[in-house]
Amino acid sequence: MKIIDAHTHFFPIEGDKTAWAKSACETYWGFINGPRPDGKLSLQGFPTIDKFLRDMDAAGIERAIIQGWYWEHNSTCREQNRKIADIIRKHPDRLSAFAAVNPSDGKGSREIVESAQDMGFSGFGELHEAVQKFDIMDDIFAEFAEAAAAIKFPICLHMTKPEPRQYFGKADTQNDKIIAAIAKFPHNTFILAHWAGGEIFGDGGKIFRESGNIFFDSAATPLLYDTSAWKKACNLFCKNVVFGSDYPLRLYPRKFKTEELITITDEALREVPKCCAEAFFYDNIKKLKI
Ligand SMILES: [Zn+2]
Repeated sequence: MKIIDAHTHFFPIEGDKTAWAKSACETYWGFINGPRPDGKLSLQGFPTIDKFLRDMDAAGIERAIIQGWYWEHNSTCREQNRKIADIIRKHPDRLSAFAAVNPSDGKGSREIVESAQDMGFSGFGELHEAVQKFDIMDDIFAEFAEAAAAIKFPICLHMTKPEPRQYFGKADTQNDKIIAAIAKFPHNTFILAHWAGGEIFGDGGKIFRESGNIFFDSAATPLLYDTSAWKKACNLFCKNVVFGSDYPLRLYPRKFKTEELITITDEALREVPKCCAEAFFYDNIKKLKI
């Protein structure tokens, strides 16, 4: 089975990460990746790029898309994009990447959009409207969406599951607004992360069925959903689902102290219906020029 992982992250940040986050004014990232107030081990792994590639090999993953993080400042997006662009240039056969951008700042995001193609990126995201404080229905976002559509770049949006359960670092997204935005931007392709925050399983699913150009990824499924989610999602939206892990998050914190990719890949291979497997693991994401 050929497998593409459409949702990973990589943080080329050396030295003390908390100090770096402070100096870059990246409060949210520093909060969730720094020492936890409850004393538990952070869920975020920080592999080297060699370990990243080895973990892909071990899991049988042909290519991974490194999603940008939802940085609060476009200055951080630019700095991280430069480093990620260097990495994908060195591993064009294994890695693709989406450019990090904060669409709340029109001028800053315009610059990123203009250079993204030349830098080797193939999409924008992962974006988070609550952390990055943008309004998906306002004119500044519309300008960004239009520019992304013009160069046929998909936009990956983080969506949070609307549930009373709280977990460390949870930042709610306004899913109704995101769903409305999908209809507002028919020329854009969106990848809605984490099974669109679970909306595909509920009423939101009916709306998605009528829209084209949307994909749903499975990022962080073992942390957020029970095992039945794989089968349910694939049965509902075989042509729109894509495999994503959210590596190097530790997706099985009780089992593993460090990041790894084999367990989620095996779980997905076991749970995804055979009739949808090729579409889910490979063909659907291949429709985008990643
Ligand atoms: Zn996410």
